[in-house]
Amino acid sequence: KISREQEEENKRRLQAQESDEGLKVAREISRQSYLKKRQEKKLEELKDTLIDEELLFAEVKLTAREKKEKAYKQEVFDLAMKMTKDTNDIVGYQIPEAYDDEISRVKQERRFAVALERYKDPDPEDRAIPFAEQDAWEDYQSGKAKMKFGAADKKKADEYEFVFEDQVQFVQADIMSGENEPMDEKESRKAAAQTEHEHILEERKKLPIYPYRQELLDAIEQYQVLVIVGETGSGKTTQIPQYLHEAGYTERGRIGCTQPRRVAAMSVAARVAQEMNVKLGHEVGYSIRFEDCTSEKTKLKYMTDGMLLREFLGEPDLKSYSVMIVDEAHERTVSTDVLFGLMKDITRFRQDLKVLISSATLDAEKFSKYFDDAPIFTIPGRRYPVDMMFTKAPEADYLDAAVVTVLQIHITQPPGGDILVFLTGQEEIEAAEEILKQRTRGLGSRIAELIICPIYANLPSDLQAKIFEPTPPGARKVVLATNIAETSLTIDGIKYVVDPGFCKQKSFNPRTGMESLIVAPISKAAAMQRAGRAGRTSPGKCFRLYTQWSFNNEMEDNTVPEIQRTNLGNIVLMLKSLGINDLMNFDFMDPPPAETLMRALEQLYALGSLNDRGELTKLGRRMAEFPLDPMLSKMIVASDKFKCSEEIISIAAMLSVGNAIFYRPKDKQVHADTARMNFHSGNVGDHIALMRVYDSWKETNYSSNWCYENYIQVRSMKRARDIRDQLQSLLERVEIELTSNANDLEAIKKTVTAGFFYHTAQIQKNGSYKTVKNPQVVHIHPSSGLSQVLPRWVVYNELVLTTKEYMRNVIEVKKDWLVEIAPHYYKKQD
Ligand code: ADP
Ligand code: MG
Repeated sequence: KISREQEEENKRRLQAQESDEGLKVAREISRQSYLKKRQEKKLEELKDTLIDEELLFAEVKLTAREKKEKAYKQEVFDLAMKMTKDTNDIVGYQIPEAYDDEISRVKQERRFAVALERYKDPDPEDRAIPFAEQDAWEDYQSGKAKMKFGAADKKKADEYEFVFEDQVQFVQADIMSGENEPMDEKESRKAAAQTEHEHILEERKKLPIYPYRQELLDAIEQYQVLVIVGETGSGKTTQIPQYLHEAGYTERGRIGCTQPRRVAAMSVAARVAQEMNVKLGHEVGYSIRFEDCTSEKTKLKYMTDGMLLREFLGEPDLKSYSVMIVDEAHERTVSTDVLFGLMKDITRFRQDLKVLISSATLDAEKFSKYFDDAPIFTIPGRRYPVDMMFTKAPEADYLDAAVVTVLQIHITQPPGGDILVFLTGQEEIEAAEEILKQRTRGLGSRIAELIICPIYANLPSDLQAKIFEPTPPGARKVVLATNIAETSLTIDGIKYVVDPGFCKQKSFNPRTGMESLIVAPISKAAAMQRAGRAGRTSPGKCFRLYTQWSFNNEMEDNTVPEIQRTNLGNIVLMLKSLGINDLMNFDFMDPPPAETLMRALEQLYALGSLNDRGELTKLGRRMAEFPLDPMLSKMIVASDKFKCSEEIISIAAMLSVGNAIFYRPKDKQVHADTARMNFHSGNVGDHIALMRVYDSWKETNYSSNWCYENYIQVRSMKRARDIRDQLQSLLERVEIELTSNANDLEAIKKTVTAGFFYHTAQIQKNGSYKTVKNPQVVHIHPSSGLSQVLPRWVVYNELVLTTKEYMRNVIEVKKDWLVEIAPHYYKKQD
């Protein structure tokens, strides 16, 4: 109930403040000076938008103290720069071009939002007021704020200023209340002398879920479907499967537990194996796309929700399972949503299967209602109060602001207490890691040690484990995470949360059929979850890099379920393969827009996987064997005809790795670009270039040195190799022979076209492109080998929206091919 109660509470506070004398006065003053202020702001804003900020720094006369300070800062800065230059170890990170676009887009948007707010047409009374009020409110808030930043003492704050120039200014708002009052730390240190495993068993007993073990088991015994709700970190994911195992459920079959994210499935399985003192992959295992770490022995199986969907293909009644836990149900991924429907169906004919729906938030009523009023089991939470801090003004560059905030916390806050920063993806996390390293390098003993731990989906598992390692005394850990740390993973010891307020989201326009990945503001519910991570083991602080006004007025209450904003091609193909034909009447918790379903059916029809009665074709059945997007699956199946399956699975594997193949260290960009362009010689297009990268690496016997020399990420290549191996074994399953045709680039390009003819664009007079079906203006991504070549017709792999709509990974095609390969889709013109 916390988030809803908290919202009520916030509302009440705001109302109370409205009637507050101080605010009344402030508002009156603000109204009177409003017109004058408006003029000034307009001017200021014009300056801001037209002139580069740096030009605005006027000459200032420095006092002696300021001069001394400046000299000191310069010294520290020089030292840091020197160290940066000396160490030549900047290998292993990557700043893709898209990153710059992304940041500047967000910068622009934020600026625009600020400008918009200030430019609001003042004439109609009702529009003028929000502006004035917003100002008054913020003035008032910052006036009464107890502390500028939350520094324990003024001296510390000054120390910070000595070391670093930039600062982010925060105002304290509410305190998110907790059920627990602070307790002394003795308790947790008691177990020091135990062995590690004993210690782990102790820890298990301390989890909030532990006192409810028996009650929970009784409820599961009694009901077939049970909705379980509990605060993140209460022990749902790691403990419930173990309790069930201990209670004998594994004698009748496996216990499955789904996770929306791969990293969570892997990491939780590893933890549970450790708790049970068994080898990962034996009694406890996990299964994620392209990686099956289970065996005959496996009793507790963690898997991604997408993998369970695939298991339905082979075992439609899930008969090898005695319990299935759909975990993190609140995330509402497409796969989880579809699983709801399938699980509901399955309970009708498998009375012996227990189904648990587990969720971190309290919209459990909705789950309960959907599952024919299944009972709800609530695990009372334990949480300490969290101080909420908002920025005084919108931050133009949230990445920079996040880094500055981390350093501010590190230096001004007492030792002990780790920091969790939410960023949107791998690129951003790697950039932040690099900036943090650069800024702290060479400061030596001037600041305490800062241990930087990134965590995102593609991070290798050995590095994933690092985030859970306890922080050594005197040091501080900063975890740079994607959304994964919002509810899926609990990291102990977090006391400070830095929340820029953004996440990466899929968005889909069913009218144009365009799917793009965009950086979007998070919802209020997500912001509350993020803040909650600070108060799990002791009272904490949450630093939000947006204003309270934005929170109140600009953020949606809840995140829209993914099923309503994504392309459903994959899911529809899956459901059709399961024999579910009437999709319009499938029991969705929140049905996708009819238009989106139609769009998916149409695409599958165009690809040849459905016939005109909407039934699965033989081709469709083969495509469904691949855990890939239908277009990629179609491309692979089509490689049979063009006799180039060897090359095509390399391309498919490289595309599946994402955009983490090449990297560009800042000081060696030219070298990196030259190395990259080598693979593009002859303007063969990005798919062929990726194939060349893979083949060359293979020729060197998968050498890591070769990767370093060519500015290629070894990790990504290893993953591509894994994926390729899997695709190769799937080829056998659909009886496609492994044949190589590496010299016939046309055959390879035609095969790509056979899968992606849906993604065709034609050049326009001004050098931009127009997509062929549902015309839309798009551009070739600057990272593409063809970005300067601009062929007439191109086929692209995906669209990404940064500063513009970009096509990422493109090849040149001939118009005639389209007619030849997809005659039902393209007709000959002229
Ligand atoms: P919930 O699912 O209710 O959010 P979890 O079962 O994931 O809770 O977490 C319970 C506890 O297990 C937490 O204290 C968390 O820190 C710990 N934990 C989970 N995964 C790991 C791991 N990989 N390493 C160490 N501790 C872990
Ligand atoms: Mg969990």
